Amino acid sequence: MTGTTATVTAARPPLRGWRDWRAWPDNLIRLWRRSLRFRTVMITLALTALTIMIACVWMALAIQDDLFRSRLTQVLSDAQRATLAAQTTLDASEPQGDTVQLQNLMRSVTDQLAQQSTSDMIAAFRIDTAASAIAPQNFTSGGLTEDTVSDGLREMVQSDAGKQWWQSVVVPAPTGGGEVPGIIVGQQILVPDVGAYELYFAYDLSSASQTLGFIQGTLWVVGIALVLLIGAISWFVLRSVTTPIGEAAETSAMLASGELGVRLDVHGEDELATLGRSFNAMADSLESQIKELADLSLVQQRFVSDVSHELRTPLTTIRLAADMINDQRDDFDPSTARAAELLNAQVQRFETLLTDLLEISRYDAGSVQLELEATSLAHLAEDVIGSMQQVAEQHDTDVRLVAPGGYSPVEMDPRRIRRIVRNLLGNAIEHGEGRPIVVTVDSNQHAVALAVRDYGLGMDPVDAERVFDRFWRADPSRKRTLGGTGLGLSIALGDARLHGGELAVWSQLGGGSNFVLTLPRHDGRLSGPSPIPVDPGDDGASGSEALGLTQPIVLPDHDRAPAPRGGTS
Ligand code: ADP
Repeated sequence: MTGTTATVTAARPPLRGWRDWRAWPDNLIRLWRRSLRFRTVMITLALTALTIMIACVWMALAIQDDLFRSRLTQVLSDAQRATLAAQTTLDASEPQGDTVQLQNLMRSVTDQLAQQSTSDMIAAFRIDTAASAIAPQNFTSGGLTEDTVSDGLREMVQSDAGKQWWQSVVVPAPTGGGEVPGIIVGQQILVPDVGAYELYFAYDLSSASQTLGFIQGTLWVVGIALVLLIGAISWFVLRSVTTPIGEAAETSAMLASGELGVRLDVHGEDELATLGRSFNAMADSLESQIKELADLSLVQQRFVSDVSHELRTPLTTIRLAADMINDQRDDFDPSTARAAELLNAQVQRFETLLTDLLEISRYDAGSVQLELEATSLAHLAEDVIGSMQQVAEQHDTDVRLVAPGGYSPVEMDPRRIRRIVRNLLGNAIEHGEGRPIVVTVDSNQHAVALAVRDYGLGMDPVDAERVFDRFWRADPSRKRTLGGTGLGLSIALGDARLHGGELAVWSQLGGGSNFVLTLPRHDGRLSGPSPIPVDPGDDGASGSEALGLTQPIVLPDHDRAPAPRGGTS
């Protein structure tokens, strides 16, 4: 299907409201595609957030490791110091195998350990499992039990007398209730007369993990604040770049739409200012070239108009002479008579061409005025069909009017509309191959329309696109009996547009053509679809088939009111 095309600026669909959350994904995708600023800020935010997150995690891990190591060094030296002090006391004593003395000695050593060490979770277990009557009991304090010490650690401590061993464990929280991460440190201590004991100190790491929690929290807060800050900064920085770009885009769109006087405001000397200056220079050159072309076109229009006017007078004389010669052709020999006939036909054609040229030059000069009159399109179509009945009969063509609507008068210039209908019908008869032609008139609340459907030669889509071009003819070799200047449809389109209406075409090679003229009822502009679709929908059915489908409608008398129809007239 081919219709007349109007240049439409591709309007960007507006974003649906942000209040409706279901529209958010669509809005965000559209914003991503449309806004350079939004896209750049989002990419900056994503990359900054990723970088800051990696930095925060790395820093948190490093700080955690550092805190642990320094606490470990501290607890190892604390345990070492306390153990050494206790060992010195034990070495200085001479219990001489006395149970009571050994018990007292062990008690004082336990007290000393508690004083020397910063931990109150201390335990000592005798290594030798053989029963002894004098050996002091194992002891535990501060909630440290035998279960807290793993078998692995105990084996290590038992295996090496001079070494310190440690292990990460969970220990009871110092505040009571729950458990906290901690370190347990073990080494041997030698009790005179009895033998070696495993000595364990447990330290909680709650203060270190509190510090770590605080640092991690601070890192996250700082990280998020940084991301937002960088986002805001890039938004403002980008604004200073994208705003001039947006202005340039808007200005070039205005320039493209024909506002040749628009220019960019240029400030400063940076790259954007250079761009603005170059843009303005380009616009200046474009404006002057277009002005030159417009002047040239004006000269051409004037030339066509002047030549047409100048030709009118001699042509009238030639026409009179040709008529006279033609009237007397019976007195001539056959070849002169034929020449007289040809002369007459060509002079007629010349006259039509001249009239069309004058009309076109009036359009170009913008000096066409409509003489509006309330007119019934259905009755106008009936008149035109009547006036062309003879031509139709010459072509053995049956013209049928189907008018379910379009009776009520609409403001139009009847002389011009009649000319359009005559042209469409003339073309249909010319190219209809003698098949029936259906003229349809219908209306809706916005518009009235008239369609001329023929089932003749038709055109391929490329030809149909060009049908309204001046001087264009689908196939100049086609036999021509009517019109033939190639200006008829161009004038018809001009007339339709002057009314605020439209002229559209559907055509199929071998399937015929359908021309639809649509005129607005009000305001001089179309505000809805045409009452008659340009695609006839019969897909090139032969004329007689189509006529079989359409019921002949007897037109009401001019003075009789049309049959009422819902929504249309
Ligand atoms: P012309 O005066 O040559 O008829 P128009 O502007 O009216 O000029 O038409 C331009 C060309 O469009 C015609 O020469 C013809 O080739 C083609 N055309 C117009 N109407 C029809 C139709 N109904 N069927 C096929 N071709 C058509």
